[in-house]
Amino acid sequence: MTRIAGRKDSPAKGGSQRQLEIPALLTVKELAGMLGVSGVEIIKLLMNYRIMANLNQAVDFDTAAVVASDLGYEVVEKPTPQAEAISSKEVKEENPQPRPPVVTVMGHIDHGKTKLLDAIRQTNVVASEAGGITQHIGAYQIEVSDRKITFLDTPGHEAFTAMRARGAKVTDVAVLVVAADDGVMPQTREAISHARAAGVPIVVALNKMDKPGINVDRIKQQLAEEGLVIEEWGGDTVFVPVSAKMKQGISDLLENILVVAEILELKADPDLSASGVVIEAGLDKTKGALATVLVQKGTLKPGDAVVVGDAWGKIKAMFNDAGKRVKKAEPSTPVKILGLSGVPHAGDDFVVFTNDREARSTAEKRQQEKQLRLLKPIRPVKLDDVYAQIKAGQAKDLNLILKTDVQGSIEPIRDSLQRLGTDEVRLKVIHTGSGAITEGDVLLALASKGIIVGFHTAPTVGAQRMAESDGVDIRLYNIIYDLIADIERALKGMKEPTYAEVVEGHAEVRAIFAAGRHAKAAGVYVSDGLLRRNALIRVIRSKEVILQSSIASLRRFKDDVKEVATGLECGVGVDGFNQFAVGDVIEAYRKDKVDESAH
Ligand code: GDP
Repeated sequence: MTRIAGRKDSPAKGGSQRQLEIPALLTVKELAGMLGVSGVEIIKLLMNYRIMANLNQAVDFDTAAVVASDLGYEVVEKPTPQAEAISSKEVKEENPQPRPPVVTVMGHIDHGKTKLLDAIRQTNVVASEAGGITQHIGAYQIEVSDRKITFLDTPGHEAFTAMRARGAKVTDVAVLVVAADDGVMPQTREAISHARAAGVPIVVALNKMDKPGINVDRIKQQLAEEGLVIEEWGGDTVFVPVSAKMKQGISDLLENILVVAEILELKADPDLSASGVVIEAGLDKTKGALATVLVQKGTLKPGDAVVVGDAWGKIKAMFNDAGKRVKKAEPSTPVKILGLSGVPHAGDDFVVFTNDREARSTAEKRQQEKQLRLLKPIRPVKLDDVYAQIKAGQAKDLNLILKTDVQGSIEPIRDSLQRLGTDEVRLKVIHTGSGAITEGDVLLALASKGIIVGFHTAPTVGAQRMAESDGVDIRLYNIIYDLIADIERALKGMKEPTYAEVVEGHAEVRAIFAAGRHAKAAGVYVSDGLLRRNALIRVIRSKEVILQSSIASLRRFKDDVKEVATGLECGVGVDGFNQFAVGDVIEAYRKDKVDESAH
């Protein structure tokens, strides 16, 4: 547990304010101890700020500071021990040398990502590895015209963005696979957004060119609509026709990847002690914890003492993607390592330390921090924080992910939003799409420090949970004006109007029935108050709020109605939510603007 500095009276402040040093994250119980009051008192104070906490829940520094100041304390943040580990990564590179590019393959499902990765690997094995047995270790390296390229062989943008969400920048170039017989599809668009959000250049591989009746111009047009304009049309997107099946166009694709990479002038110092990132990790019954790491700086060698995520170890052996033992791994090389104390996660960083003792104590510190962090801070990132960040010069961009019920609403909303950007902050809509807000959207928001805006849609249960646990702000709107006004307020630093919540009624779910092709509606009994169409609702299951949304449709005997009163039954539909269960309680409420001048 985090140790806490004692409380000091501050003579400078004339004794009226007591000074206190508190850590970045602490539990309600610890905070109570430091402030010399009971836990219940802290819980009550937090409730004034609409934060429902229990004793073991963690609060972040800002929240703790507010409570402490209510009790007459002045607080400063205690530096966290993690600072040390980070600084070891900031070693100056004295001797930067060119390094191979690291490439991720993305694209819509079934467009041939896996097949393309296989074809590339088979046709361009590193000469020294020929005859070796191909091992899946999460990445492989190939050689083309004496130059190397590293491919991450977990295709898809989910893995890429999950790593980025953990703070790891792994990819230099993204290959976007588009099947020539299918064209640009939803996941193609997602992949483009993900690569763009990460600032990674895209090379298009137009796959399945062996199929009959391919219309290449149609796909070029579709890609241009997504902002990927090919060179012959005056853009700068490299576009290579290939057939993964026939192994055609592969060397052309690789040459083009090298050209794009050359512009990036990728360099790293091989003389440093190594650091990098975990690509894949697992537990082997006989060998113990295994991890594939990508060396990003320095040279990794057997015998090195490493901290990997919150595990540590002395590297017993290293293997390449042909299953061969290797004596060193230079920048951009993936190797599987043996000898770790625990299994790290993909996206964790690794750092080599000068000795075992240091590695071990750093790993132990990280474990303690993780324990504390598991008790998540309960104050999520809010749109309201944006202006504070802008003012502090911390935010230059506001990243938004826009999801709507129908494709047709995207353009007008995006246009209005983009007009809101100011000289100080650029407003970037980094991804748009129609349908429910998914876990992929939450991941993208997390990785890009963005906010999700939903119009006439709602998160899936999984996405909602993930957003809550990771503190991603999802804002739902049914009226365009409200949506635009809220974002504008955040950008201009105007205070959000204060709303008071008024519960309007409750209903019990008694039956589930189909409503349309994919949708399910709930048959409910209004037990008190009333339900109104468009009312904000919470769906409560076993005392837990599983969904916050609004009523999209309200029906009695097949007729759309505006409201339903106590004692009556009706059907309730919620956009993007299909998981009503008998016994769920729907709480309907509205938000009334509070007139602050009346106080
Ligand atoms: P992924 O989901 O993007 O990884 O796609 P896969 O690599 O699994 O390929 C999906 C399907 O398309 C498989 O049946 C492949 O055999 C097929 N496929 C992949 N590339 C080609 C190609 O170049 N030509 C043809 N005709 N089929 C291909």
